Amino acid sequence: MSPLIEKMLTLQDRDRKMLQLLREQKDVPARKQLIESRLQAHHESLKASQEEIKKHTATLKNLEVEIEGKKEQIKKYRDQQLQAKKNEEYKALEHEIANVQKVIRGLEDQEIVAMERMEALQKTQGEHQQDFQAEEKQVLAEFQTLETRVKNIQQELDQLRAERTALTAGVDATWLARYERILQKTGNFAMVPVEKSCCGGCHMTLPPSVIHDARRGQTITTCNYCGRMLYAIV
Ligand SMILES: [Zn+2]
Repeated sequence: MSPLIEKMLTLQDRDRKMLQLLREQKDVPARKQLIESRLQAHHESLKASQEEIKKHTATLKNLEVEIEGKKEQIKKYRDQQLQAKKNEEYKALEHEIANVQKVIRGLEDQEIVAMERMEALQKTQGEHQQDFQAEEKQVLAEFQTLETRVKNIQQELDQLRAERTALTAGVDATWLARYERILQKTGNFAMVPVEKSCCGGCHMTLPPSVIHDARRGQTITTCNYCGRMLYAIV
């Protein structure tokens, strides 16, 4: 294998690493968004349970106020009873009181059910709070890992770019331009080996003259089908 081809293969190796790193770098915002959306989902569950508690607190308060109102009503009836002059009047008030007491018992039953529901809601909220905090911790850790990775990617890219500059120094400009164009077009390999009598990129059978040229390695030999540059493993 000619020293030029060897150099080009090293270049291709570095370029492929760079492409991979660039792809990874490009994916970072999407990855961040994915992590954030996970936290957002937990936050929404927490907010929903807090909202439900708020609503339910109002329901409980209304019940209490209603019960208090009914108790006041009984007091008024009792006062009226003290002032009642006729027995029928007294009895009628007693009847009213019994009615209101029945209503109060009904309301108190509702209050018990509502309090039990409140306990369940608070338990759920507590769980959501814990989940959210755990997720937040996890997300922060993942963000940190990602930040470190971003820095490392940048460092690796800088190093590869420097290596690339050194590698391309002695390479013929025509070869280099062609190589770069093919690499960009294929997104994977610009230089492929001849495998048996096929192109190592597209696997089509190559004409004997092309294989011969690739073996000699004196000129740029390309695959007639995919345009990749060919080299022979001797
Ligand atoms: Zn090919």
